[in-house]
Amino acid sequence: TARILDGKAIAAEFRNECAVRVQRLKEEKGLVPGIAVVIVGDDPASKVYVRNKAQACEAIGMHSEVHPLPAETTQAHLLAFIHALNAAPAIHGILVQLPLPKHIDGQALIEAIDPAKDVDGFHQANLGGLITGHPAFYPCTPWGVMKLLEHTGIPIEGKSAVVIGRSNIVGKPMGLMLVHAGATTTICHRKTQDLAFHTRQADILVAAVGKAGLVTGDMLKPGAVVVDVGINRLANGKLAGDVDFETASQVASWITPVPGGVGPMTIAMLLGNTVKSAERAAGLGTGAETRIA
Ligand code: NAD
Repeated sequence: TARILDGKAIAAEFRNECAVRVQRLKEEKGLVPGIAVVIVGDDPASKVYVRNKAQACEAIGMHSEVHPLPAETTQAHLLAFIHALNAAPAIHGILVQLPLPKHIDGQALIEAIDPAKDVDGFHQANLGGLITGHPAFYPCTPWGVMKLLEHTGIPIEGKSAVVIGRSNIVGKPMGLMLVHAGATTTICHRKTQDLAFHTRQADILVAAVGKAGLVTGDMLKPGAVVVDVGINRLANGKLAGDVDFETASQVASWITPVPGGVGPMTIAMLLGNTVKSAERAAGLGTGAETRIA
């Protein structure tokens, strides 16, 4: 049976490293890294995510502020709000929690964020930089998956990787990161014919769909590394990923649990990006460590 790729433990290690960097910024530069989260409306899941992010920031000594705005807030007001955060010296990272109400153009809001404060890595400048290997920030979820893969100690170069899902925030950047790391990469999505044909070739499989139990053990190559990004709320109230853990863990060599796999890594990468932004503001570090050859 598969070994557990323990995102919770790996994220805790990474958060400890971030805490040390925060302490150094305070001692050497008198600077406290700050993050601002804008949340519009009252989606219950979003509120939980935002609270978790803010708590994680405070736990490592960062400043965090949450700006809850009513669902009927206008686009113009939101844009002005983001411009003010761009100009605020105490803020090094700006997040707009998704999803947004229907009348809001979310992409326009993201493009209004200063790319140097876009710690989610969703701005076109950062996604474009991902192609050339020079983004200011990588999107947190796929970057967290790369850190998990690194943890297995299994080299990625030359391997066959399959990503299921082609969203701008997970699937597509995930595919690019795997290509950069040397994997021969296939991106599957809702139009893919015969998903199992593709998944059975995968030495590394990343599922980012949002459909519980989509990937079963019989769809895996024996010994595959399986990373489950999906978060699905079941009828019984429990959380499940896109991968059927029971059958998949019989075939895989490594597998992430849900919860406790990719989710904690996403938050840890967000902390890392914000600390990095603050380090740049303080003139520490070159940012060279963000390059992918
Ligand atoms: P999305 O809805 O934007 O994209 C889903 C993708 O799945 C689409 O590209 C679609 O083409 C593909 N798809 C749908 N049905 C399919 C099928 N039957 N076969 C193959 N592909 C199919 O979602 P997203 O924002 O990329 O998120 C994906 C999942 O990951 C969701 O469950 C989300 O909650 C979760 N998520 C988790 C984290 C985390 O931190 N763990 C972060 C972001 C998203």
